Amino acid sequence: MEDCLFCKIIKGEIPCDKVYEDDKVLSFKDINPEAPVHVLTVPKKHISSTNDLKAEDEELVGYIYTVMVKIAKQLGISEKGYRIISNCGEDAGQTVSHIHFHLLGGGKLD
Ligand code: 5GP
Ligand code: ZN
Repeated sequence: MEDCLFCKIIKGEIPCDKVYEDDKVLSFKDINPEAPVHVLTVPKKHISSTNDLKAEDEELVGYIYTVMVKIAKQLGISEKGYRIISNCGEDAGQTVSHIHFHLLGGGKLD
């Protein structure tokens, strides 16, 4: 989608610090990390938020979780623990309208 920041990152129009990529998802470091490890994972398909998920996306969301768990293992934070969150809407503080999942870890989280 035009004018979507994460779609532009996916297309390579805006650079990112890539952690993982395949045909379905892209994972990259958050530009403003809130934990020692802060990685965002986004589907390449534009979906605005969890409110816009459709039945056909069930497999994709499960896939994103398994990718994030693999990243947590690779980055060495899976033993001590981590958090996966997705903010939806204004009250949750969603600032980018392309569904994304935060992987936070590498230290004690608030
Ligand atoms: P939200 O607040 O919508 O849940 O999360 C959006 C996240 O995107 C924020 O943690 C913010 O730091 C991150 N972010 C915003 N713009 C960019 C960018 O241009 N590059 C990267 N890597 N992260 C970004
Ligand atoms: Zn998008």
